[in-house]
Amino acid sequence: MKLAGKLTLIFTVIFSLLIFLFSSFYYLYTKNLLIDENKKELFRVSLGHALMMGRRMSAMMGVQRFSLYYISSPNGVIQDPFDLGFVYKEGILKNSNGSYLLVKRGEYIIGKDITSIILALNRLKINLTIFSIIGIIFSSFLGYFLSQRFLTPIRKIIQTAKEIDTKRLKKRIDLPKNKDELWELGDTLNNMLNRVERAYSIQEQFIADVSHELKTPLTNILGYVRLLQRWGKEDKKVLEESLDIIKETGEKMRELIDVLLEMARVQEEIPKEKINIKDFFGERKGYYEKLYPDFDFHVFIDSNTEIISSKGLLEIIFNILVENAVKNSISKKVIELGFSNGKLFVRDFGRGIPKEEIEKIFERFYKVDKSRSSSGYGLGLSLAKKLADILGLEIGVESKEGEGSTFYLKL
Ligand code: ADP
Repeated sequence: MKLAGKLTLIFTVIFSLLIFLFSSFYYLYTKNLLIDENKKELFRVSLGHALMMGRRMSAMMGVQRFSLYYISSPNGVIQDPFDLGFVYKEGILKNSNGSYLLVKRGEYIIGKDITSIILALNRLKINLTIFSIIGIIFSSFLGYFLSQRFLTPIRKIIQTAKEIDTKRLKKRIDLPKNKDELWELGDTLNNMLNRVERAYSIQEQFIADVSHELKTPLTNILGYVRLLQRWGKEDKKVLEESLDIIKETGEKMRELIDVLLEMARVQEEIPKEKINIKDFFGERKGYYEKLYPDFDFHVFIDSNTEIISSKGLLEIIFNILVENAVKNSISKKVIELGFSNGKLFVRDFGRGIPKEEIEKIFERFYKVDKSRSSSGYGLGLSLAKKLADILGLEIGVESKEGEGSTFYLKL
């Protein structure tokens, strides 16, 4: 049985039970009240008066029937206006003529006609039964209506839940107006969906980032392998240089994978360490010179300090910025990097970025000019921004079209 059916049944049963109890109570209460009143009357009326009344009436009419009270004693009937015969027992006596209430007073039994009261009580019983039947029918309709009403939000939740899949994770449950338990259920599910969507998009972005970040070093390695295949066997210098770069790039790839995996797992718990700026840029310069032999790298540091940050993440950010600088340089193949005015920076003298595009370049998949660089998916800077956010650093750019760009990280 469905929930709506169960709720209707429970509602109807409870409501019917209440109607039944109420009707029974009302009927018994009324019956007792009326019988008690008549009993009281039978106790109140004086026997002499009852007899006298009977006698006087009888004498007047010549019949005994006009007396209002039946009286008997153990010795026999004293007055019997209702043709009851000899009765020496308390209670309600019913015969074909009517109903009579008899009470014992001393050694007498005194009784009166209560036919009209019993008829009224019977009418009341019928009325209450009709009322109960109507009530039960009404309550089952009401129960059905209410259960439908209560269940509508739940049905909506079920419908929405059915519509949600990985392609439609944005969908949320419409919350009812009243802040009741159903609102709470919907809100809880929506919050859960927020978390699921976030986790899912982190995973999606992670895959995109990983493929982007791994593609470049892999291309690099493959390039050097081809170089080795052609000249490496004869030229010892090419052989050693290529092997060095392949090894270094491979190690960097492994580090990168470690960091990316770490990022995808717990973004908040990135381990930080003391980094000496001068050492850091010295290392970077050496690495980039090998990676981009056509370029000249200059390091400028206005004050040597130590910072607390994640070296691994900073390296990834600089790899992205330097790769972009390389990709976007035209004739002047010089790249400057370093630390000045509290900012870590990478400067190139290449194309520069149009003013109106500057705000957008940190968005995912945004590329200034789709035909500009064949490699890249417009993900590098968004990853750099994400990492800078994790490290609590502000990333920005100053650029002039045709003159070059300076990307910086503000400490
Ligand atoms: P991609 O991986 O495709 O290079 P990025 O997110 O790294 O994507 O860069 C976004 C856009 O910003 C690119 O289309 C690129 O043209 C532009 N850009 C990035 N760095 C520079 C730079 N140093 N000089 C000029 N344009 C740049």
